[in-house]
Amino acid sequence: MTAKPPTAPNIEAAGRWPASPWNGGWYLPAQILPSPNFGARPEGAQIDLLVLHSISLPPGEYGTGAVQQLFTNRLDWDAHPYYQGIRGVEVSAHFFITREGRVWQFVDCGQRAWHAGASHWRGRGNCNDDSIGIELEGLEGLTFEPAQYAALAQLCADLAAHYPIRHVAGHEHIAPGRKRDPGPGFDWPRLRSALAGQALQWPAATAADV
Ligand SMILES: [Zn+2]
Repeated sequence: MTAKPPTAPNIEAAGRWPASPWNGGWYLPAQILPSPNFGARPEGAQIDLLVLHSISLPPGEYGTGAVQQLFTNRLDWDAHPYYQGIRGVEVSAHFFITREGRVWQFVDCGQRAWHAGASHWRGRGNCNDDSIGIELEGLEGLTFEPAQYAALAQLCADLAAHYPIRHVAGHEHIAPGRKRDPGPGFDWPRLRSALAGQALQWPAATAADV
């Protein structure tokens, strides 16, 4: 926050010096829930990629709190049969956007979250090193909510204003054959349109005419 001159009227100060939505690598509009699943980015990492994912736990059930539990290593693996297949995994993403458009943040954007796995994009591998991971509450193949697109577009714009973001891709694009999220239900043209003012590169398959 930039301090206003002591003599300036409040309304003028607010207009001239709008508050940044960032506190370092933490996004102030988000609900913060720190995850232990992160590490340092390589020295000199250029954070230029946003990776979009979808997740829901159990799959297809929303608002259970289980995603937040998974990302903070507090999920009860015995609470659902599906969890047997992911027992013990330690993963995270920087952000999670619920069906209502609420944004959660688990990892400082300056740190390396564990969302991409083996991956390759824009000529570079190990996308966790220099990307920001955004999870949308949902299920591969199903659609997402208008409130999620609104929150996502705002988050992407705020990220692009704070980091040298040049690329947006889905997990399915950076790990083809291994991952399929966010899947065909995600409306890429809608997000591209919302971010048309940004100088961003998109996967070819996300254009409106595909
Ligand atoms: Zn994913």
